[in-house]
Amino acid sequence: MIKVFTAVSVFFAAAAASARWVWWRSTIPGLPVLVYHKIGTPPPGSKLKDLWVSSEKFRAQVAWLLSQGYTTVLFSDLLKAHKNEKELPEKAVLITFDDGYENNYTQAYKILRELGAKGNIFIVFNTIGKANTWHNPDTEPWVNMASMEMLKEMQESGVIELGSHTMNHPNLEKIPLEDAAWELTESKKQLEAALGKEMCAFAYPYGAGAYTPAVRELALKAGYMLDFSFKQGKTPWPWNRAAGPIDRLFIKRGDNNLDLMLHLTRGVSRLF
Ligand SMILES: [Zn+2]
Repeated sequence: MIKVFTAVSVFFAAAAASARWVWWRSTIPGLPVLVYHKIGTPPPGSKLKDLWVSSEKFRAQVAWLLSQGYTTVLFSDLLKAHKNEKELPEKAVLITFDDGYENNYTQAYKILRELGAKGNIFIVFNTIGKANTWHNPDTEPWVNMASMEMLKEMQESGVIELGSHTMNHPNLEKIPLEDAAWELTESKKQLEAALGKEMCAFAYPYGAGAYTPAVRELALKAGYMLDFSFKQGKTPWPWNRAAGPIDRLFIKRGDNNLDLMLHLTRGVSRLF
């Protein structure tokens, strides 16, 4: 009797654990847009470890995407599809990186290029060649951001396209609207002047609030054709721009290829 009871308990414990992964949900349509931040190993004292994906894991994830028949696309591909100029490949996926860390150049760019894949990086203009100074260094160690030379090299390679992530990485919900307008227009202007290319894409900084309807109106008015939220999910494609920004799938440090598959097909991987 005890044995049976133990077996049943073990079965339910295993079922409960695996039910965390949403394999039991049905697949949903829409465009998968992955969001990464830092590639490599978190420095000692880092509390935001989820934002780091090891280079080995990143390589394995990109290789897995390609092996499953996914085509990695660029902002310009998405824009052409949005304007009905060119269709997206059947299994298109957008790999994006927020903030513009140096490790995007030293790790991610190298891996994408080697595997024949493409990626997109949202840049914080005032931190180019510096550090992620929007974090309090007492609670989150600063790391280097990519230099302008690195950004130019990546852009010229055709492997990476760049977009804006503001001038200073503020929470646009929490600053006056005129300051938010400046963050949006000035970063577009400065990046375009420095990189000689139109910046069609923008990502709202921070996961929680990120944007309000008034802030979004400013982003569209600033001339961004594609705006990306930090909201978890897939966006139906063709995209109804009036309905809201393009959602993304946050890939965390602990995610494995099962998580990746669930993100891509279910729009989420785990419940908790
Ligand atoms: Zn950010």
